[in-house]
Amino acid sequence: SMASPALLMRVVASAYSAAEKAATIVRNVMAAGDLGIVEKTGANDLQTKADRLVQMSICASLAQKFPKVTIIGEEELPSDEVTEELIEDGHCEEILKKTCPAQYTGIKEEELVIWVDPLDGTKEYTEGLLDHVTVLIGIAYGGKAIAGVINQPYYNYEAGPDAVLGRTIWGVLGIGAFGFQLTEAPAGKHIIVTTRSHSSALVNECISALNPDSVIRVGGAGNKVIQLIEGKASAYVFASPGCKKWDTCAPEAILHAVGGKITDIHGNSFQYNKEVKHMNSAGVLAALRNYDYYASRIPNTVKQSLVP
Ligand code: AMP
Ligand code: MG
Ligand code: MG
Repeated sequence: SMASPALLMRVVASAYSAAEKAATIVRNVMAAGDLGIVEKTGANDLQTKADRLVQMSICASLAQKFPKVTIIGEEELPSDEVTEELIEDGHCEEILKKTCPAQYTGIKEEELVIWVDPLDGTKEYTEGLLDHVTVLIGIAYGGKAIAGVINQPYYNYEAGPDAVLGRTIWGVLGIGAFGFQLTEAPAGKHIIVTTRSHSSALVNECISALNPDSVIRVGGAGNKVIQLIEGKASAYVFASPGCKKWDTCAPEAILHAVGGKITDIHGNSFQYNKEVKHMNSAGVLAALRNYDYYASRIPNTVKQSLVP
């Protein structure tokens, strides 16, 4: 007989549908033309109507189904009641068909923490760099990122009207990651992907020390990890505070599910328990392959400037 699917798989299956609903909201807000931009800490730290609506949609949809799960979203919003049209009730059947890894079958709702970045790459969204934007839903257990969903609402938007717009990537440790073609970066080349809107002298000093063949500057932590798993870049290097737990949780789960590695610039793994500080103060270092090569070449002067 069919046992009912494990909680983790039901959460991932629901997060998948919530992320697809989120993508529709992201596209609809842009199409309507009024972004409702609010500066949070400054001009490089923005919130739009899409960030607000998507966070309400994802958090309310998942909380309705999984009331004891801790859900932490990026945006601080007034706790107004959420309108019915923002609720997503569906789930992805394909995900429910996968077998939950044995070490996760006993997980209870109160043991899960979901980290939500409703719109990663907001600065780029406001500037029309639409394929930089992702919706991130990361799922943590025991302080570790174990599953994640990344939706890219404008994937293919420059590929012409016949191309399917948008995609959803998902992964679970011990199962793998799906929704994209896993590709390694060109062998023997050092292609670094980093921030385009949050650079600093230290960010650039660290990249120079790695002697890159080329540097790709794009928005979004989700987008940069996509560059790694699709072989466009060999390492994601960001020697700066600024990135938060909701930026790294979903990308980390997907990258680790395919054998990659993400840490701070010192090589410390990120923690995702609900009490943890949100800021990734000591930056980000990630690679699909050859992580150790890049880690070994981060200058000590850079490390000393970034306190975890
Ligand atoms: P980026 O690579 O610049 O797109 O940054 C990745 C994620 O970290 C995005 O969600 C940014 O908003 C966030 N982030 C990075 N640096 C900063 C910063 N200095 N201030 C605010 N948010 C930042
Ligand atoms: Mg973000
Ligand atoms: Mg965001």
